[in-house]
Amino acid sequence: MAAVGFPAAHSLVVWGRRKRRSFSVPNLILLNTGSTMPNKSLVNNKRKPWLAELPALGIKAKDLALDIRRHFSYTLGRDKYCASAHYAYTAVALTVRDRLMERWKNTHYAYEEANCKRAYYLSMEFLMGRALSNAMLNLGIDDPLNETLHDLGLDLEEIVECEQDAGLGNGGLGRLAACFIDSCATLQLPVMGYGIRYEYGMFRQSIENGHQVEEPDHWLRNGHVWELERPELTVRVRFGGRTDDYGDGSHPRRRWVDTQDVLAVPYDVPVPGYRNGTVNTLRLWKAVATDEFDLQDFNAGDYAEAVRSKNMAENITMVLYPNDASENGKELRLRQQYFLASASLQDVVRKWVLVHGEDFSEFADKNCFQLNDTHPSIAVAELMRLLIDEHGLSWDDAWSITTRCMAYTNHTLLPEALEKWPVRLFRQLLPRLLEIIFEINARFLGEVASRWPGDLDRLARMSLIEEGWEQQVRMAYLAIVGSFSVNGVAELHSHLLMQGLFRDFYELWPNKFNNKTNGITPRRWLAGCNPKLASLITEAIGDGWLTDLSQLSRLAEFADDSAFRQRWREIKRYNKERLLKYKKAELDLDVDLEALFDVQVKRIHEYKRQLLNVLHVIHLYDRIKRGDTSNWTPRCVLFGGKAAPGYFMAKRIIKLINNVASVINRDAEVSAFLKVGFLPNYRVTAMEYICPGTDLSEQISTAGKEASGTGNMKFMLNGALTIGTLDGANIEIRQEVGPENFFLFGLTAEEVEAMRSHYDPESIINGNEDLRRVMHLLESGHFNQFEPGIFDPLIQSIKSPSDPWMTAADFASYVEAQRRAAAAYLDQEQWTRMSILNCAASGKFSTDRTISEYNRDIWKLTPVSPSPVGAQS
Ligand SMILES: *Cc1c(COP(=O)(O)O)cnc(C)c1O
Repeated sequence: MAAVGFPAAHSLVVWGRRKRRSFSVPNLILLNTGSTMPNKSLVNNKRKPWLAELPALGIKAKDLALDIRRHFSYTLGRDKYCASAHYAYTAVALTVRDRLMERWKNTHYAYEEANCKRAYYLSMEFLMGRALSNAMLNLGIDDPLNETLHDLGLDLEEIVECEQDAGLGNGGLGRLAACFIDSCATLQLPVMGYGIRYEYGMFRQSIENGHQVEEPDHWLRNGHVWELERPELTVRVRFGGRTDDYGDGSHPRRRWVDTQDVLAVPYDVPVPGYRNGTVNTLRLWKAVATDEFDLQDFNAGDYAEAVRSKNMAENITMVLYPNDASENGKELRLRQQYFLASASLQDVVRKWVLVHGEDFSEFADKNCFQLNDTHPSIAVAELMRLLIDEHGLSWDDAWSITTRCMAYTNHTLLPEALEKWPVRLFRQLLPRLLEIIFEINARFLGEVASRWPGDLDRLARMSLIEEGWEQQVRMAYLAIVGSFSVNGVAELHSHLLMQGLFRDFYELWPNKFNNKTNGITPRRWLAGCNPKLASLITEAIGDGWLTDLSQLSRLAEFADDSAFRQRWREIKRYNKERLLKYKKAELDLDVDLEALFDVQVKRIHEYKRQLLNVLHVIHLYDRIKRGDTSNWTPRCVLFGGKAAPGYFMAKRIIKLINNVASVINRDAEVSAFLKVGFLPNYRVTAMEYICPGTDLSEQISTAGKEASGTGNMKFMLNGALTIGTLDGANIEIRQEVGPENFFLFGLTAEEVEAMRSHYDPESIINGNEDLRRVMHLLESGHFNQFEPGIFDPLIQSIKSPSDPWMTAADFASYVEAQRRAAAAYLDQEQWTRMSILNCAASGKFSTDRTISEYNRDIWKLTPVSPSPVGAQS
């Protein structure tokens, strides 16, 4: 450099600036997306007829039919020799997508023109399920499209079945995100979902010899018609490297250098609101290797190394971690989290700079980030980094902005789910972010120390850094300190957060804390999955319930109408048949449709206590075998759910369910009284068949452990009665429907905690004849005749005084509640009345209500209506 005549120091600064520039705003120019960038000659041309608005696409049956045939023939290039259902599905989906596309653009234009505040839902999981029938319903083209398909000789059921579930989540948390964005679109709120486009979603589960077997879910294999790749919006995410100082003495600056970068390419998925012209966006990021990454190694002649590093980069979005409510302490998981947070924030900040330049004074008034659990909470430090390092803001200005636009939702009280990352890992992977976290912590602890002088215990308790043999970053604390709002997901859960887990923080900032009880979208979870019940309800009270679920309360008066009850019952019966037919291949049970359908489907986890349910099933079996069957209520007990592949106890519970089922279902003596089944591969689509056909919903977690639950709400909305503990949203469900329409049992959260110190399961077992006999059957190997000892770990856990889930403690109370439920079912008129009242009382549990509360208390967005399609043409 000296050779060209510049003083060395100067050239260093120049080099530094150029180097820096390459990471910040002009990023795009350096990326391999040149061909997708706006083309100057096209943009500058004043006459742009090619950009003019198109006439609206028709939504009559004949318009749809022509488009389906066109897509099949021309877009897909298939002919009469290729009459596959898959291509027919794709042609139908493209036809629907075209209609979404028109509304999607208008929604985008409306938000741009309104220059409105926006919120972003950051979530590592979006458990979307299928999109086709939901899009048809929300667009309001379900009737003409059904007619079209019939005319074209296509079977709607068969077409719909071609679509893979988008299973980009584990369970409740991911499904909540999906229901939330549905409600945001229906409420016309400018909210965008940000997530990860996993190449492999939630594994597929099959059962072999009673054991869970996992298979990879390569859901993108046959293409995903709903996504739109947006390479022109690619951003660069950095990892590794080191930090150093630059700038002059009066303006010291830090920078992050020698990084290994990965490109984040967005794929947009449309999220239609209910018949309102709004189509919002779910933006999912895919990791792609940079070109220069490869070039270095190619130039060095190391082809294999180049391919390896490319794979390393692209591994980031390869697979969803299949653990629900437990930590995934792997480096790749931290990479995924930072990748999501950084790409999403860069996307928002870049757009801000495009419109406002480097003036961030109104950024926090126009943007809000909702963090779905701690998974994306590194966003707090990343926004600080972007504002300070990339845009030159002072610490105080950056902190003021960050803490005015971050909001955090906690989803669990289980200690094993609280994310902590080793400081060592952070230093290696995200050195600049670790510095920022240390600085946040130092300033925060200063605040604590001045509020509680000399309280060193409190400082240690509240520090973002946990000391110990290895220092760890407490991600939940980072989220709390960096957010203006912290919420739990049901009344009890929020209460326990404030009084327990986050008590110190609640004392410091009581006004940050609030509750937002979860919900479900009534479009998918009633209108879509239970069309017959939806029509009956609409016939009775009109269709206002679809967007105002509280109107279901008007159903209550129909509970006394015996003709209405009769029709209600017939629909439940039809749905039971539909459930069995759907599951016929995997569940060949000869079930009486008059039997009580008793269902527990959810992730398999000890705290959810599938084991308690199994103990009750064994108890019923025992009663039948001893001839105690007078006034018996025939039952079909169904289980379903995935166990995390590394969760030994959960997998063993699946094995127990299957072994017990096989003993019971083979026993002719038992057949008229009891059937047991395990529904493999529980997922969103399965639940759409299961909840409409359920009579009794099992919500039996140890009190104080289930944050909210949302499966409980899907069942209630579809007319199931609940047997449950005072846990999560069960408490609010019972409040809404009244104690006489809910089968309550078990210890309260307080009683559970009070009992821990002297919990003595052996004496409970010895003191209860029913439980003693059940344990004896288990211990005698009755359900594992040729597999000695396999259930010992489960038996031991029930008998352990330190059993965190206190299964034995609630057994007697559970059995008694089950007796009440069985007796109630014998009076079908009374049961149906209670079923109607449950549905009628479920209005509170719409995500439309939940989202309205998020918006009222946290986001404060103004709804925006797009103009109707074709309005300008
Ligand atoms: C609703 C839902 C859940 C959550 O169920 P909980 O009973 O609340 O744990 C999990 N998985 C799927 C597929 C769901 O649809």
